[in-house]
Amino acid sequence: MSTYNILFKLNLSKYLQCSLTLMCLIIFTSAVAKAESSSNKSEEIAPYNAELCTPDNPEACGSDFSYAIDDSICDDPEKCDLDPSYISQEKQYEDVIRRLERIHKFSKAETELFEIGTSDTGDIIYGIKIGTGETHNLVVGGHHGNEYGTIELAESFAYSLAQNPIEGQTMHIIPVLNINGYNTRRRKEVVSTKKLEALSGTEMDLFIDPNRDYESPCKKNEPWQLKSTRALADYIDAQNIINLVTLHSRGALIVYPWGFSTDKEHVDVHEDHKPTFLNMARMAVTYSDYKIVNSTRFFGPTDGTLEDYGFWKHGIWSILFELGKDKYPSDKKIADIINENVPGLRLMFEHAPTERAPEHSFDKKNCNNIEEIEELDEVQEAEGLEETESAQGI
Ligand SMILES: [Zn+2]
Repeated sequence: MSTYNILFKLNLSKYLQCSLTLMCLIIFTSAVAKAESSSNKSEEIAPYNAELCTPDNPEACGSDFSYAIDDSICDDPEKCDLDPSYISQEKQYEDVIRRLERIHKFSKAETELFEIGTSDTGDIIYGIKIGTGETHNLVVGGHHGNEYGTIELAESFAYSLAQNPIEGQTMHIIPVLNINGYNTRRRKEVVSTKKLEALSGTEMDLFIDPNRDYESPCKKNEPWQLKSTRALADYIDAQNIINLVTLHSRGALIVYPWGFSTDKEHVDVHEDHKPTFLNMARMAVTYSDYKIVNSTRFFGPTDGTLEDYGFWKHGIWSILFELGKDKYPSDKKIADIINENVPGLRLMFEHAPTERAPEHSFDKKNCNNIEEIEELDEVQEAEGLEETESAQGI
């Protein structure tokens, strides 16, 4: 082989090497470009248009509501931990705090973690504030500790808003009010150890229902037996909340005030305000198809609830959600609850009032004995409503 040939072969081999490298580079670059364009494309698939997003045009509401984590960022284990597969009936409050911290850390919106105070068991009650808009709204879950689906919805709504806040609004979300109840999956909240020692009654005496502990015109026993409800009321006082959603389960219902012990003549809020509540409720059921009901008419009297307190005391537009139909929903059922209600909540808040109701009183003389409420069953039947649960539900 001549020297020329050897040189030629070497050069040829270098040439081939170089060509192969170049080809690889081209293939690699085009693969990256393709991957980038497909990830851009997936972002474009879910346009959200606040102007067009109405109950009649749900397509325009896009999939920005989705609580599910974006696969493209799931190479980071911390971010993947936001995934709803995290849902568990065994979850504890420390897990809720951890998730709130991560929603805050990976938020695209301005967010802030806050505390409203300490419960009787010494647990700090946390919330997350999302957005910087002028109108302040509130979502509260976990009044009843066994209603664990409410916590999952509150967290998922927080995550959804942290990715895409509502323009002009600041949302305050408190996933769990009754922390001890949540950790033990008990409806009621335990009072302090001192109070426990002072009380000598049955176990029922040692626990308070948080959603019967608010001040109320028809309530017979003393309000504010729990530190948690007092802390929430003080927080509401300080924050100029305009609209309020309180999450419960179950019943597949959207409930509006009043829930007082009153007769059928007085179960509704003032006629000027009922259309506003009904409009909010209609927005809320866009994706869920839940029934819309008046509280007392459907459940009978429930004095001392947050929803009545919010409207009666402050004129805050207060709506109660009874989520799903299962007493102990599976993870799959909870995912359904989230998928139906995250967009419904968003739509409702987007169309909600920006000012409190000017007139929101309730005349005490219209408070009646609980027995008289039984007459209301006829109203229920007349309206074709089926009672899915007793007043225990809310
Ligand atoms: Zn409840």
